[in-house]
This record gives sequence, structure tokens and C-alpha cells, in this order.
Amino acid sequence: MQQQQARYQRILLKMSGEALMGEQSFGLDAKVVGRIAKEVKTLNQAGVEVAIVIGGGNLFRGAQLAALGMERVTGDNMGMLATVMNALALQDAMEQIHMDVRVMSALRIDQVCERFIRRRAIRHLEKKRVVICAAGTGNPFFTTDSAASLRAIELEVDAMLKATKVDGIYSKDPKQHVDAVKYDRLSYQQVLTDGLQVMDATSIVMCRDNQMPLVVFDMTQPDEIVRAVFDEDVGTVVHA
Ligand code: UDP
Repeated sequence: MQQQQARYQRILLKMSGEALMGEQSFGLDAKVVGRIAKEVKTLNQAGVEVAIVIGGGNLFRGAQLAALGMERVTGDNMGMLATVMNALALQDAMEQIHMDVRVMSALRIDQVCERFIRRRAIRHLEKKRVVICAAGTGNPFFTTDSAASLRAIELEVDAMLKATKVDGIYSKDPKQHVDAVKYDRLSYQQVLTDGLQVMDATSIVMCRDNQMPLVVFDMTQPDEIVRAVFDEDVGTVVHA
């Protein structure tokens, strides 16, 4: 497959925290983290520049903590710190297989990782280092999907790849409706008008307004990340 030409030279991969959880109900599954690291290595070795935005939902979500009575901003700060923990785990798995990788955080935690500085992040990518963007946007009341759209645009990637547990975008939830239809291509406007559950509206609008192509694909399948970069028939492509 790597003999083929990559469709994108630089990508932003958005993974939820739950993607790192495997079959568990909380935390991290080392096997899953290791598999993802290996698959990103395949892309890296093929010369594809990879930036990653990682979520924190496997540990904490601000809205859930707020529902339990915690102040929302405190909960969101905990959620952002959760993404830093996930980023460190992924960095560690990548370093164990001798990859060049840097965690860059939107919140300053200088003893732990670099802070996100756009020009430095681009330099890392040009040097073929994987950049893991942690702590979302660094602001409460946002999600890591919005952070992913923001970083994708700032880092001038060719496409944003959103990893999910289904193989693309459907007209309705395919797990609940047998007549759900899968889309191969879709416009951002249609996503918004039909209220399709892809990402939150803020991140969709940012991608739409900045003509950022989005590929939604199933990352539970082995090597699907690699196929999503090399094969145009993978997942659903959303375009402006
Ligand atoms: N978060 C935030 N600002 C951001 C990104 C994330 O406050 O820019 C917090 C928010 O509480 C969120 C949590 O971090 O619920 C974890 O992120 P998210 O829910 O997007 O993770 P995912 O669902 O992708 O695992």
C-alpha cells in the first residue's frame, strides 16, 4: 500500500480519549496505544507529516463533572489535563518504537512537555517529527474536536482525519437503524443542515470556513489510519 502515493502530505489526526481505552470503561489500554503508535509510524516512515489532537473523555469531561456538581471551568481544566496524560502515554508508546515525537500543550506545563507554539510545531513537522497537541485549545467550554479544527487550520494540513468507531458518516445512527445510508462524500453545509452527528458545530463551521477537508473513518480497524491516507475509498470525506 505504501508504494501508492499518499493523498495527503500533512495530516491532523483527531482521536478521542475513548479510542485509547480499548474494551475498558476507563483509562488506557497499553495494547491499543501501542497499535496506534505503530500505525502512525507507518505513515511517518512513508514521509507523511502527522500532527495529532487527542481527547480526554476516557478520563474526564468537564460537562460530566459539572453535572456531578463541580464548577464547570474546574471540570474543563481537569478534562484538558486528562488530554495531556493521554498525550504523554502516546508519546511514550511512540518513543518505545524509536519515533521522533513531541507533545505540545496549549496549557503551559513546561516541566512535562513543550508549550504549543505554531511555528515550532510546523518546524517539528517539517523535520518529520510527530506532534501531539495536548490540552485542547487551552480554554474551557471548548472540545478537542474544536481544538483539532483549530490546529488543522493553523498547521496548514492537507486534511483532518477524525477517528471514530464507525466507518464513515451515516444518514442516521447505523447501530439503531438498519436503513441508515452511508455517505462517501458530503458538504459541511449538509452536515449542519441535516444535524449529522460528526463533530460539534464550532469545529464543523471552522473547517467549512477554512476549506479544510475532513475524513471520518473507523480507527478500531487495524491499519485503517494508513488506508485513510492512501486510499480514497475509506470513510466519508466532508468538503467545503
Ligand atoms: N476541554 C476544554 N477545552 C478544550 C478541549 C477540551 O475544556 O479546548 C475539556 C472539556 O472538559 C472536555 C475534556 O477536556 O470534555 C476532554 O475533551 P473531549 O471531551 O473533547 O475529549 P474526547 O471526547 O475527544 O475524548
